[in-house]
Parts: sequence; C-alpha cells; structure tokens
Amino acid sequence: MRLSRYFLPVLKETPAEAQIVSHRYMLRAGMIKQASSGIYSWLPLGFKVLKNIENIVHEEQARAGHIAMLMPTLQSADLWRESGRYDGYGEEMLRMQDRHGRDLLFSPTAEEMFTDVFRTYVRSYKDLPLTLYQVQWKFRDEIRPRFGVMRGREFFMKDGYNFDLTKEDALHAYNRHLVSYLRTYERMGLQAIPMRAESGPIGGDYTHEFLVLAETGESGVFYDSEITDLTFGDRAIDFDDVAQCQAVLEEFTSRYARTDDTHDQALFESQVPEDRRREARGIEVGQIFYFGTKYSESMGATVQDQTGAQVPVHMGSHGIGVSRLLGAIIEASHDESGIIWPEGVTPFHCGIVNLKQGDAEADAACEALEASLIALGLDPLYDDRDERAGGKFATMDLIGLPWRITVGPRGLKNGVVELTSRRTGESEEMPPEQAVARIAQIYRRAQA
Ligand code: ATP
Ligand code: MG
Repeated sequence: MRLSRYFLPVLKETPAEAQIVSHRYMLRAGMIKQASSGIYSWLPLGFKVLKNIENIVHEEQARAGHIAMLMPTLQSADLWRESGRYDGYGEEMLRMQDRHGRDLLFSPTAEEMFTDVFRTYVRSYKDLPLTLYQVQWKFRDEIRPRFGVMRGREFFMKDGYNFDLTKEDALHAYNRHLVSYLRTYERMGLQAIPMRAESGPIGGDYTHEFLVLAETGESGVFYDSEITDLTFGDRAIDFDDVAQCQAVLEEFTSRYARTDDTHDQALFESQVPEDRRREARGIEVGQIFYFGTKYSESMGATVQDQTGAQVPVHMGSHGIGVSRLLGAIIEASHDESGIIWPEGVTPFHCGIVNLKQGDAEADAACEALEASLIALGLDPLYDDRDERAGGKFATMDLIGLPWRITVGPRGLKNGVVELTSRRTGESEEMPPEQAVARIAQIYRRAQA
C-alpha cells in the first residue's frame, strides 16, 4: 500500500477524552473514531488489526476442532424468556420492538441462540461432542463505557458453545478451550494468565478468566509470580487427548491466580511464599465457563443416550474479547512514540520510508522493495509522501509497524538500505535484497 493513496487520518494532538495510552494511540493513529458513547467506527488501520486478531481466533478454533457459524445480532426476546434470562439480565441489555410490537434485543451473548440451533437439529449422542462458535458484534449497554474499545457498548467478541453428553466430556471441552486460548493469545504476542473467576449472569461453577497484566487493567489480580514464567510455546498438542489437555490445565491453573472477585487473602498467604506474592492489575481478554445443564434443561436441548433415554446435554460457553484485545495489546506493547505491534497482528508487515521522494534512484529502489515484498506474500506500507523524514519516522513509530526499511540516496550510493526494529530501535545497513529476505524470514518464523 502506498501511504499517499491510503486513508490514515493521523492526529497530531493528543485527544483530551482518552485517559489511557491505548485509547490515545488508537485515536492518534487513525484506527478508530467514536461514533457515539462506547460505539466506534473502525477506520482502515484499526479494521486491519481487528481482522488479523479475528483470523488468529478462527485458525486456533479450527485447530481445536470447533466449528464457525454466524448468528444474527438481533434476537427475539421469546428465546430469552424460555431460558429465564430476559427479565434478569437487567439494563445492560438493549431492548427494542419492531413495527408489529414484537420484543427484540441486541445480543449481549448467545447461549440461547446456540442452544436453540442445537435442539432443532441434534437428536443423538452420536452427534456429540460438538462445539459451535461465532465472532460477532455484541451490545451491552455498559453504564460507564470508557477506555475506547476496552469497555465499549458495541464490541466484537468470539463466543463458543460446547455440547456434550456427560459432565466429563464437557470438562474436556473446557480444558480444550483453555489450551486453545493459551495458543491464541501467545500468537498475538500476549501473556494472558488464566485466573479463577466468578461466573456472573452466565452461571455455573467452573470458570477461568484470562488476564493480561497492565497497570490500566480494571481488575485487581493476585498471583504467584511463578505463573509468569509459563509459556505454552509451540509444543505439539492433540486436542482430542483428554489427559494431555487436562495436564495443560493443571500446569497453568494449579498456582494461585485470582481476580479480586474470588481472591482469598488467607489462602494466598498460605499457598504462596511471600517473595512470590504479587498484587497487580489486569485486563480481562477472555473467559471460559462450564455450566452443566442450565440452558439445556430450561430450553429442552436433549439427546438420546446409549440406553435410549432422553438426557439434557452438558454445556459451556467461551468468550474472547476480540475488539478489546487491540487495547490490551497496545497497553502491553508501546513506548512514548507510539504502538509496537507484535508480528502476529501488525496491520502491515513493514514500513518503507523514502528519505528523498522524487529522487529517481530512491523512488525506484523503494518501488523495487515494495514489489519484492509483495511477491513474497507480504504487505508493506510505503510512505511515498513528499514530507520531511522526521514526519515520516514519527508516523511510522506511532502506527507501530515492527520493521522499517529506510531508503535514501546516500545509502543507495553504497548499495545499502537501513532495516530498523521498532521494538529495540536498532538499525542495520544491508543491501535491499537482504532486507527483504530478513523480513520474509521473520514472518515465516512468526507464522510457524
Ligand atoms: P467485564 O467483566 O470486563 O465486563 P464480562 O466478564 O462481562 O466482561 P464476558 O461475558 O466474559 O464479559 O465476555 C467475554 C469477553 O468479552 C470478555 O472477557 C471481554 O474480553 C470481552 N468484553 C466483555 N465486555 C466488553 C465490553 N464492554 N467491551 C469490550 N469487550 C468486552
Ligand atoms: Mg468475563
């Protein structure tokens, strides 16, 4: 993409309404525009990152054997009356009527819709296990929308629902989700720690929230510092293997890690030696639940088991805050000049900065670099505007592309360009072909 033809409405001044760094940078980098309180338009750069995050979610869900589909955002209130949640959900639910006076609502979550699809089509235990999910807009009329996409009213969420014959099978589905979420967040360059949580209006006994540590997080967290040494990495995992998934759950949840809702100070002190006790703040980027037969019983989602009896299925639901993740990633990865995107989610793989636009040799070198990167399946952003170098660098730093190639007449005389890491700020001179090869290699590694 050529920056001169792109739509990147970068702001020079810091918007007064933004209280935290991720919100400030998302506005300044032209990623989002507030449409109304807690509701955002996704400008091209923000939309690209949102899609990258969504794609990682889809790839990892597929790896775990979960099946994507799409539900409407507007749902009939009748389904929610059946489950008994219509009256209880409260003011966060946006309710409306159509022209015939029928009650509708904008989905804040979708247990009822998925349970309804399940009961319509599935009759036998032979069709289980089954996990269906979607990535779809949700609406919750939050009393205090704030921090940009972090706590919006309209937000993009992955929500998945498992249907299993027995509690044991459903707990395997729970573990499978935990493993796939660990992989998902790591691919986004994040450490998200599973912490024991409270289930809220969704109900049920088993639940973990995934938290990214950040000073601006809304949740207080208490944990054993050893937990931050754990990574899932690229280990092989068979998602059908019950023992393997259970072992990962135990590895990642046996140490003390709780949010303020479930924190127990006496237990914390008895379980964790003082020098490893940490009290911090975190951003909730996901949550998994097992809630048994709560919805299947109230809504009649039953299957025939091996003996021919009709039994309600065991269910769980599992959410990832896709749009909130943009904020969480920026909170975890930025400096005073702007965002630093992890390679896994960056909107463009690298920037190309032409120090002397209009210089025939520099222009040709930049175009050749751009063409070679595209030929390798990469997506560069070439700043071809007629601007000072300082302004171009400031824009690149703000929008946070992890790699930048700087091209100028002086370097070209010696046959070199400069490759700069956004994270370390380190630069290295090398021939253009080598810079291209280096970037290609970095992204091959990031995708592996
Ligand atoms: P919170 O406690 O932050 O209000 P929640 O526990 O009510 O969130 P869940 O029902 O667990 O939310 O939804 C799954 C995920 O969706 C959350 O882990 C979070 O990442 C994201 N999410 C929830 N509410 C919002 C919101 N208002 N804006 C953006 N993302 C949200
Ligand atoms: Mg939650």
